[in-house]
Amino acid sequence: MATIRVYKDEAHGDLFPRVCMRCGQLANHDVPQNFAWMPPWVHILLFAGLAPWLIVALILRKTMRVTAPMCDRHRGHWRIRKLYIGLGLLFWIALAIGLIAFSDQLPEDAVMPAFAFGIFGSLFWLVVGLFLVNGSIRATEITENRIELSNVHKAFAQAWREILDEEREQRPVARRPRR
Ligand SMILES: [Zn+2]
Repeated sequence: MATIRVYKDEAHGDLFPRVCMRCGQLANHDVPQNFAWMPPWVHILLFAGLAPWLIVALILRKTMRVTAPMCDRHRGHWRIRKLYIGLGLLFWIALAIGLIAFSDQLPEDAVMPAFAFGIFGSLFWLVVGLFLVNGSIRATEITENRIELSNVHKAFAQAWREILDEEREQRPVARRPRR
């Protein structure tokens, strides 16, 4: 897996190679994805409380929309993760509310197993979710004018570099700083 850099004026994806960002095979879908990023140190503020963290995170959070070429198999690369997280969150919240509201109506010997299922099940779900997000194509930096994406297939990164080199040769006056 590789890391690529995309400038804001390239994020529409028209210049991208027709190569799937995930597997390097032929891409036949253009998948728009909103990436978000904030400096990692922001999370240290969680120790100071939820409110300071939230305020700084909202100020420093940067987003960029990139239209990524994807193959048939990977067109749902981000959607499937969002579903896993969104539906999972709904399920565990509903379960927690249900358990708290109806715990006195459960048979006595079912209360402990039900709570244990809730606690260990949601922890397991969370760990799997972290692995899924960490392994996905994600932003490792976003600035005013560019985005860095990691977990991109190296065939895509290679083809993208060649396109940029070619473009730079055609325009002797550098449009962007050399990378
Ligand atoms: Zn693919």
